[in-house]
Amino acid sequence: MATINENYLKLQGSYLFQTIARKVREYESRNPDTRLIKLGIGDVTQPIAPAILKALHRAVDEMGEAQTFRGYAPDLGYEFLRNAIVENEYRSRGIDIDADEIFVSDGAKSDCSSIQEIFHQNSAVAVCDPVYPVYVDSNVMAGRAGDYDQEKKLYGNLIYMPCTEENGFVPEFPDRRPDLIYLCYPNNPTGESITRARLQEWVDYALRIGAVILYDAAYEAYIGDSSLPHSIFECDGARRCAIEFRSFSKNAGFTGLRLGFTVISKQLVLAGQSVHALWARRHGTKYNGAPYIVQRAGEAVYSSEGAGQIRQQIATYMKNASFLKTALADAGYTVYGGENAPYIWLKTPNGMSSWDFFDLLLDRIGVVGTPGSGFGPRGEGFFRLTAFGTYENSLEAIRRIRTL
Ligand code: PLP
Repeated sequence: MATINENYLKLQGSYLFQTIARKVREYESRNPDTRLIKLGIGDVTQPIAPAILKALHRAVDEMGEAQTFRGYAPDLGYEFLRNAIVENEYRSRGIDIDADEIFVSDGAKSDCSSIQEIFHQNSAVAVCDPVYPVYVDSNVMAGRAGDYDQEKKLYGNLIYMPCTEENGFVPEFPDRRPDLIYLCYPNNPTGESITRARLQEWVDYALRIGAVILYDAAYEAYIGDSSLPHSIFECDGARRCAIEFRSFSKNAGFTGLRLGFTVISKQLVLAGQSVHALWARRHGTKYNGAPYIVQRAGEAVYSSEGAGQIRQQIATYMKNASFLKTALADAGYTVYGGENAPYIWLKTPNGMSSWDFFDLLLDRIGVVGTPGSGFGPRGEGFFRLTAFGTYENSLEAIRRIRTL
């Protein structure tokens, strides 16, 4: 008799966005004439930039000609894209990464959720609190997280690293020794970043205890402060203890096109086993390559025209972030993030719970955000707004918030 993977029954995750969607639906049926301002979900809104669109069209046409048609893509990605990534993301910053250390994929979510497969079942996993839920849920599915404690709102076997106002939303080293450490900077949901010196301390710590850092840099394109690290491989020794995840979703609007990549150095070796070789084996077995046309679009992100156009798009989002942050601070809110990331992390007023604040904004002024408690217990009392809306909607959100 077939039986299911019972670990899936332990998942709590989808509650957050399902509940938001239900509340929004109910509001809309009660208030059909109110225009909702949605600053909740972290999806981009600007269309694909013209230079990238041109590359897509060209590649589509190639698929219609026998001479230029392409079938299965190479498992690990086309050379043209891997070379462009290495040149533009790494060598231009003085980082020594080879093209065959780049694994092209359909996005960071697939990779940062699947990477745990190649590590031991009993690995001790450390995650930030609050956290991008994918790191937690993928370990729950794999049976590594233990049971969920309804009262504490935590999984028993995971190591949670509090990210608080006091530590600038960058965790301390945990009390219990982790084997795998998920870090994400610039951070979703807090919008805060990590300094190069602090990241180096994490790398040194991982090398000291033999842990691997799983570093999600999906938002690195939003870094404006030139002193901040764009890649963990800017740190000495990171090639021996870190894996990096990157995405074309937020820098170039590929949330619908789907493209990302993972970087694993050949120097990352655990007990004589090459992690690079294991991931290549896994990638080759379970994944048949990102579409040719999308990889050509990815290449165009690095053309001088494409790069200029996406810089403009990012600047537009960051103008929203800066406006939202300043206006909320002027209105008396305590606000974090929004300087090197497209997320604003604000403290709810008068100690309100995250969900009460969500209800207040929705019911009174028709503004939708994301309750911080949905990202973990330390997110309670916080609220996330995204800068991915239009400038007009950001202005309107603030106008309405000021009326509260
Ligand atoms: N990592 C973080 C921290 C994210 O916030 C997201 C998407 O919101 C992703 C990864 C997923 O990126 P992709 O669209 O490349 O799968």
